[in-house]
Amino acid sequence: MGKIKIGLIVLGSITLVGLVATGMISAQTSLQGKIIALDAGHGGTELGAQYPANSGENAQIYEKDVNLAVVYALKAKLEGAGATVVLTRKCDETISSRKSRVDMAIEECKSLYGRKCDALVSVHHNGSIDSTYDGTMVIYNEKQDIPLAKALLEALVPLTGNNEGLDHGGYGMTVYGHLVSALTEAYYITNEGEAQQYLNGTSTQVCSNSDGSAKFVLNGDRVNQEAGALFQGLDNYFSASPTKPGRK
Ligand SMILES: [Zn+2]
Repeated sequence: MGKIKIGLIVLGSITLVGLVATGMISAQTSLQGKIIALDAGHGGTELGAQYPANSGENAQIYEKDVNLAVVYALKAKLEGAGATVVLTRKCDETISSRKSRVDMAIEECKSLYGRKCDALVSVHHNGSIDSTYDGTMVIYNEKQDIPLAKALLEALVPLTGNNEGLDHGGYGMTVYGHLVSALTEAYYITNEGEAQQYLNGTSTQVCSNSDGSAKFVLNGDRVNQEAGALFQGLDNYFSASPTKPGRK
């Protein structure tokens, strides 16, 4: 009898914990109704950084693939929270210029939803010839981008523990269209530990190219941790600064 009673109490507690947890997960975030453009850096013939460093076509990891993996994982999380997501690069196509990426985002937000995107996040990863080096930075361009850049940096830094800070960059991603935006470099894919974590992921198809070929990336804990951090950064940004309705 004693054992059954304890069993019931334990079961009851688990149910309660479960309900609380469910309640917390379904709690509304500030992302509900937001239109967020995500830009997976590089693509196609533009490989971005490589692991091992500068190994070109023989690389085990291309930055363009890590960027794409994170963008698709983040897209799923944002849509789960009621946000609408617009992608610049859809799969493994080459996009000639940063300006055309921003133009694509602006065009899509306007034609599909009749207004400006609430934010644009360009996802990149860094590279170095030092395979022991790791760190996190976020690049902004205009003053209006600083709150978003700060929120993303704060959320991403725990991934590496090395805060490289905000960079006021000439990356050009944010100078077009006056869209609130930031470019993230969550970690160095040339770092031995980071590379192994990505390579431990499971091969997953995330999209199809225009010629019908399937695009696979490695999805794993590291991709999910970063997508989770970016999600948190965006949520913190929107809850701290309720955005004005987008201008047309
Ligand atoms: Zn890059």
